[in-house]
This record gives sequence, structure tokens and C-alpha cells, in this order.
Amino acid sequence: FWYSCLKHFKKELNAQQFNTWIKPLQLDISENCNDQPVLIAPNRFVLQWVKDNFIPHIEVMAQQHFSKKIHFQLILGNTFDTKISNDESSHHVNNNSPVQSLITKPVPKKRNASHLNPNFTFDSFVTGKANQLARAGAIQVAERPGIAYNPLFIYGGVGLGKTHLIQAIGNYIFENNHEAKIRYVHAEKYVSDVVSAYQHKSFDKFKLYYHSLDVLLVDDVQFFGGKNRTQEEFFYAFNTLVEAHKQVIITCDSYPKEISGLEERLVSRFGWGLTVAVEPPELEMRVAILLKKALIEKIVLDENVAFFVAKHIRSNVRELEGALKRMLAYSRFTGHPLSLELAKEALKDLLAVQNRQISIENIQKTVADYYKIKVAEMYSKKRTRIVARPRQVAMAIAKELTQLSLPDIGEAFGGRDHTTVLHAHRKIAELRSSDPIVSRDYNALLHILRG
Ligand code: ADP
Ligand code: MG
Repeated sequence: FWYSCLKHFKKELNAQQFNTWIKPLQLDISENCNDQPVLIAPNRFVLQWVKDNFIPHIEVMAQQHFSKKIHFQLILGNTFDTKISNDESSHHVNNNSPVQSLITKPVPKKRNASHLNPNFTFDSFVTGKANQLARAGAIQVAERPGIAYNPLFIYGGVGLGKTHLIQAIGNYIFENNHEAKIRYVHAEKYVSDVVSAYQHKSFDKFKLYYHSLDVLLVDDVQFFGGKNRTQEEFFYAFNTLVEAHKQVIITCDSYPKEISGLEERLVSRFGWGLTVAVEPPELEMRVAILLKKALIEKIVLDENVAFFVAKHIRSNVRELEGALKRMLAYSRFTGHPLSLELAKEALKDLLAVQNRQISIENIQKTVADYYKIKVAEMYSKKRTRIVARPRQVAMAIAKELTQLSLPDIGEAFGGRDHTTVLHAHRKIAELRSSDPIVSRDYNALLHILRG
């Protein structure tokens, strides 16, 4: 209620009036006065003015809100030293009393407005080589929003912690400053907001909202690809926010230049601040993540079991979590403890899939056979069309189907540079939409490789 009062006055009064009379007020509850909220004013002058001019209005709003008459008491005090305590033993506050709801509502309400999930924090985020740069950048931005790097652009494959990290930044800023206007939005939701602004001719309202944020977190921005009106709106929002030193943070499944169908002006803006990658975690980090998740879930997980799972589930963190959940369910279902034997049994199907996982050698052989060239041509330096194109197709597929990094793929193709792999991937993507034969071959190969 107090929060909505503040909002009301903020709208009704001009900024100076609001800052002079309303903002310095602090709500407190004194002992032995249940349901009698107390407002603390910083000096006599404010006290008298508020009493004469605002209290009647506040009481009317309170009566409407709680459906009963509530008297507000005004006292003098040092508003900065006064804390609203939740310790009921010292305050005798009944949980259902309007007074209690006066003080407990604002924070959850603000958090809801931000659409942040409070479970995604830096504390629950395990760090290793794969994500230490991304995490370091994220922490700097969280500590100095709008100042450190703007925008922060985090990219990487699925299930590698991008959403976790971007939300951790939002939560961190929120914890430090409940007043900050933070909004986490998935790119698809942003697109649908643009569509509905279109339908209702309400772009003014849309702009008013997005342009007034202190922190805007956009997840999975690759969904903006090809959506021109969305990109135009986002371009304005981005410029407005960044110029006002408001923080923009973006995640994406690829590097800005690789997002297909993204306007050049956005591509270049995405690189203005700091661009960091999250990579697939290495073995020890996968073990650490499993142990951390187990700890959060209050499960006892033996290190040997964690190693076993981490050794076999290599693709991403989401799958690791899935494996853990599966073992747990299996253990509850059978009543057996979470042992190595149980893990093997519970993950049988998953492991079978992993074993069939597509290796780069497999890709090279399959592509070479398909185009009726020698596998050796995959590593050779020859650049005639007849071998160069299949080689590019194989590199593109390797990037698509394996978790290998660009340098690793380059290495597997006769020690080529990672930019060669990137170029091949882009070239094939382009040809797949312009050349039906390349498109057909590519799809056929995917089909063969995926079995
Ligand atoms: P992405 O957005 O990159 O697809 P998510 O952030 O959704 O990935 O991560 C998938 C799951 O894995 C989430 O439950 C997340 O908490 C967890 N996760 C990912 N990376 C880490 C990490 N480094 N430490 C702990 N949990 C992680
Ligand atoms: Mg995500």
C-alpha cells in the first residue's frame, strides 16, 4: 500500500514537491500500536506540512485499500537510522494486519515487476575456465551498472548458463538497489510486445515503459533476426538507454556478426561495450556444477558418482541437471541410495545417446563419401572447387553438430585457421538459402549423420 501511495504522489506532485515532502518520509511501526502505522518525518517543518496537506489524503487511500479506517501517526525522527524490522518479537505485529502488508509488499512487488527469478544468482553459479571472463564482466556490470561496460553482450551455446548469468546481474543490482527499475525480458516476449503495440497502436506506452528503465536485460536476442519493426524499436530503446547511461545486457546464441537477419546498426552497437563468451565446461567444472546443484537440493552426492556423470554427459549444463534429476527420481522410486550402480542404471538411455554422438571424423568421412571424394581431401591444402565446397560443408556441419570450438574444428581440418571455419559456416548458411542443391545436400547429410 505504501508503495502505491508513493507512486500516486509521484504522479500527482512535481518532482520538487515529491522530493521535499513525500520522499523523506519513512514508515515504521511502534510497539503496542497494532494497525496504527507511523510515518517518521525528518524535521518539524516536513511533519507539519505533511500533516496538513497529505495525511488526510493518505488516510482516504488507506481506507479504500483496507476497507477500514486507519489513522496515521506522524512523529519526528532520524529517518536514516530507522529500520523496519521484521522481528516480530519486538514488534508484536500480526501477520494479517494491514500494517504488516504495508511493509512487506513493496519488495516482492518490485521483484515481480522485474520478471527476475531470484534463484539465479552469482552464488549459485559455478565458475571455471569456460565462463570466468563472462562472469568477471557480469560482476563488473552488476557493481557499476551503466558505467562499466554498455552493453554487456554474452554469447554461447544452449544450456551453458547465459540466462543464469544475465539474471544474476539483475538480481545483484536489485539487491543493492530496490529502487532501480530493472526488466528481464526474453527476446520473444519483446517481439510479442512490439506486435501488440502495433495492434493497439500503443507504441507511446511501449516506449514510455522500455525507455524509462534503469536496467534492461534481453535474453536470446537472436530471435530479433528478420523482425524489422522489432529491431527498429529496439534500436531506439537501446540508444535512449545507453545515452542516459542506463545498463543494457544482452545474451545470444552467437556472436553479433553471426546473427542472421540482424541490421548492421544493431550488430555494431552490440559490440560497443564488452562481448564475452560462455563455453562448454570442462570435466572438473562439470563435477563442481553437479556437486553444487546437489548441495542446493540438499542431496548427498558422492564424488565418484559426480565424476561418472560428468565424464559421460559433456554437452551442456542443462543436460547435467537433467541427469541429476533422473538419478534422484530413480533413487526415490527404487528406494536405493544414489550409488554408481544406480547412476549407470538410471542414465542408461542417456549414455547410449551420448555414445552415438557425432564425432568430427564421422562427419568428415560421411561428407567425403557423399561427395565421392577422398577423406584425405578434408585435410589437404587443395582448393579446387570439387574438394573445397564439400570441405566447407563438413566444417559447417561440424560447427552445427559438435560442441567443438572453431579453432578445434580448424585443427581437425588440416590445421586451418578458425576464421576459415567461420567463413565456411557463413558461406554454407548463405548458400543453403540461395542454392537448392547445397540445401538438399546439407539436409541429406544431417539426416544421415543423425541416424
Ligand atoms: P542458457 O541460457 O545458456 O541456455 P541456462 O542459463 O538456462 O543456459 O542454464 C541451464 C541450466 O544450467 C540452468 O538451470 C542453470 O542454472 C544451470 N547452469 C548453467 N551454467 C551454470 C554454472 N556455471 N553454474 C551453475 N549452474 C549453471
Ligand atoms: Mg537461456
